[in-house]
Amino acid sequence: MNIHEYQGKEILRSYGVSVPNGRVAFTVEEAVEAAKELGGSVCVVKAQIHAGGRGKAGGVKVAKSLEEVRTYASELLGKVLVTHQTGPEGKEVKRLLIEEGCDIKKEYYIGLVVDRATSRVVLMGSEEGGTEIEEVAAKTPEKIFKEYIDPAVGLQAFQARRMAFNINIPKELVNQAVKFMMGLYQVFVDKDCSIAEINPLVVTGDGKVMALDAKLNFDSNALYRHKDVLEYRDLDEEDPKEVEASKYDLNYIALDGNIGCMVNGAGLAMATMDIIKYYGGEPANFLDVGGGATTEKVTEAFKIILSDPKVKGIFVNIFGGIMKCDVIATGIVEATKQVGLELPLVVRLEGTNVELGKKILEESELNIVAAESMADGAQKIVELVR
Ligand code: ADP
Ligand code: MG
Repeated sequence: MNIHEYQGKEILRSYGVSVPNGRVAFTVEEAVEAAKELGGSVCVVKAQIHAGGRGKAGGVKVAKSLEEVRTYASELLGKVLVTHQTGPEGKEVKRLLIEEGCDIKKEYYIGLVVDRATSRVVLMGSEEGGTEIEEVAAKTPEKIFKEYIDPAVGLQAFQARRMAFNINIPKELVNQAVKFMMGLYQVFVDKDCSIAEINPLVVTGDGKVMALDAKLNFDSNALYRHKDVLEYRDLDEEDPKEVEASKYDLNYIALDGNIGCMVNGAGLAMATMDIIKYYGGEPANFLDVGGGATTEKVTEAFKIILSDPKVKGIFVNIFGGIMKCDVIATGIVEATKQVGLELPLVVRLEGTNVELGKKILEESELNIVAAESMADGAQKIVELVR
């Protein structure tokens, strides 16, 4: 799960990791009020969306008066911001962070991620902060330093110090930088983060080390033990189909293609997407209805697939082990009764109660193409959506 920059900064602040003072604003008036409260002569109006690259896209504005705050806030609120991370459709700005202007001397990069190869959390840093770190990684990888963290003892001060020296933090500020990294690591571990990225980390004119940006992602599997983090969830930022799916405990991820897939089991779902691609089609989603799906769950899954206007055909690929084929069949019939079905539908059922399932589908008089195997089904649906 992703949260907004201002929320990430609240968490950091509560761990003693330094961030500039700031306030969230949902309206222009709130923005001006926030700027007044902050006092200072310069403040920054920052669009809050779940995507980076806002600076380059015009989503971060430096205001030198309350009037400018008003102007920028009214420009940004309601605007669809397109950054290199939002995709071409962009994201609508509904919240702003009004933050103290910071006298930046130099921008650095600091990030924590889980490295799957070593099964460890890795601290990454670079003195090429602020800009796109992906570019630095691609063109000048030697400018990115890494410290692998032993989970038994956590991030050690000597590692943080070595990082600070490697990325050329001014000597007199190394201790502050070390404290910063240790605090960030504590947040990462305590809150079960999957990413904690500070880009830029800055050194200021008056000799402070602080986070000017904050991107925190959380492991969704651990959210049950972080009610506080869950409260930060902003459904406006998520795909409505994915939100709907999560209510029914369905593993659903929207994709760009036009063949809707309903499958049980993550492995079979991946294989189904592969085979659709192999026959020249494009899946519209990943959807695993799970092992213990009920008729209700299958009905919802079907409705979610059908609510995507890009979907031009549906491929149901079920192996009934724990899941019974008749339950799936009943769900399909139920859902099409509720929402109607004009698109081609290919169904491949195999396993427990397969005959019963096929019978339910036949008797429904729905226009369903039966497939004999996964390959047969994939070929048929690819053909039908052409
Ligand atoms: P993004 O990564 O989405 O572009 P950032 O929060 O990193 O957004 O902001 C982009 C740039 O804007 C930063 O690299 C920094 O130069 C500038 N900036 C952001 N916040 C402030 C601030 N409080 N004071 C001064 N400059 C800022
Ligand atoms: Mg940034």
